[in-house]
Amino acid sequence: MLSSKVLRVLPAQARQCFRSMSGISFDLTDEQREMQTLARKFAREEILPKAADYDKTGEFPWDIVKKAHEVGLMNLGIPQSIGGLGLGVFEDCMVVEELCYGCSGVALAITSTELAQTPVILSGNPQQQKKYLGRCLEEPIVAAYCVTEPGAGSDVSGIKTKAEKKGDKWVVNGQKMWITNGGVASWYFLLARTNPDPKCPASKAFTAFIVDRDSKGLTPGRKEINMGQRASDTRGITFEDVEVPEENVLLKEGDGFKVAMMTFDKTRTPVAAAATGLAQRALDEAKNYALERKTFGKPIAAHQAVQFLLADMAIGVEAARLTWQRAAWEIDQGRRNTYYASISKALASDVANKCATDAVQIFGGNGFNTDYPVEKLMRDAKIYQIYEGTSQIQRMIIAREMMGGK
Ligand SMILES: Cc1cc2nc3c(=O)[nH]c(=O)nc-3n(C[C@H](O)[C@H](O)[C@H](O)COP(=O)(O)OP(=O)(O)OC[C@H]3O[C@@H](n4cnc5c(N)ncnc54)[C@H](O)[C@@H]3O)c2cc1C
Repeated sequence: MLSSKVLRVLPAQARQCFRSMSGISFDLTDEQREMQTLARKFAREEILPKAADYDKTGEFPWDIVKKAHEVGLMNLGIPQSIGGLGLGVFEDCMVVEELCYGCSGVALAITSTELAQTPVILSGNPQQQKKYLGRCLEEPIVAAYCVTEPGAGSDVSGIKTKAEKKGDKWVVNGQKMWITNGGVASWYFLLARTNPDPKCPASKAFTAFIVDRDSKGLTPGRKEINMGQRASDTRGITFEDVEVPEENVLLKEGDGFKVAMMTFDKTRTPVAAAATGLAQRALDEAKNYALERKTFGKPIAAHQAVQFLLADMAIGVEAARLTWQRAAWEIDQGRRNTYYASISKALASDVANKCATDAVQIFGGNGFNTDYPVEKLMRDAKIYQIYEGTSQIQRMIIAREMMGGK
């Protein structure tokens, strides 16, 4: 073990290296700090000033997506072998948290492509990776993850979209729902049933595909008008005799459920980081307002009841951040993180909702009005308890993991 005196005289990188060898550290590396600073600056200068406008119009924020691509804030997890940065889930989460401080809807437009990229990173062959991930690196395009259907969300094994093998092609028919980037994606990750036998177990009944946007018979529906995160493009997608070449099957026929599920271990943690970013913004807005607004001759921040609301918000934000950091760190060490990912997603989603609601409370009447930023935070926060597995589903996973699958 090196003494702290020795550590002080070593260059920063060596210090970092020794620290991580000697155990846990909350210091960021120089590269991580640079990335965080870049994302923070981008969120405050490029996203935050336009957030209210995109919330009102519901337009897809292409201008911001293009800038994010240009400065290197997209596609962080694409492996170096294809020309990407190959960053870990930890770095990804750090960036997501910062971007969501600016606007979680715009941030979703920038980052949700990772949900479609992750199964290709985890299970795609070199040709698939080069073609589909390579395109993401070359141009500012987005992709979508198509699993949920009108009749099946939490119960993924209930999906009905089917793919039938005809010669060297698969023919897909069905309906997907609530697909983020549904109308703006250049390509889709798709989960479809390929074994019609109802007795076939989920682990063998589904196949995962990559589908090009310009495939004949693929039709995105109208843009859904959601409660929050309105800059994000959510749609249903109809598949009518859509032909998908055999070369676009991920892994092999029957492996789809596995591919879809292993994706979540990597993508649920960034959702927790996103919720943490929103919660931090709610806390900062509430704190600043409480220092300015006066009642009974003093700033409302001087009233203990308001201080306690702010203190509880801070407790939530710090705890949520620690849980995403743990979940991200676990998977970056190459360990299964299902338990930690669900804990972080469930906790951070609840914290975001509590912080946004309490921020509205601290703003009083102004909090209920669209001229102030916190009512939007409250609308935006709700979705964290629903998408990528509802809060109930996270608790089911935590309980199952805790009890050893019993
Ligand atoms: C804005 C938005 C974006 C989305 N983006 C995508 C996307 O990009 N790709 C994609 O594939 N999907 C996406 N989804 C779908 C999302 O993942 C599902 O909505 C979510 O998983 C819940 O499924 P459901 O809506 O069918 O609700 P249901 O599964 O019908 O659940 C309804 C309620 O019952 C509860 N419940 C269900 N089963 C249980 C149980 N066993 N025990 C206890 N409670 C239970 C749920 O927690 C929930 O409260 C998106 C959804 C929205 C709203």
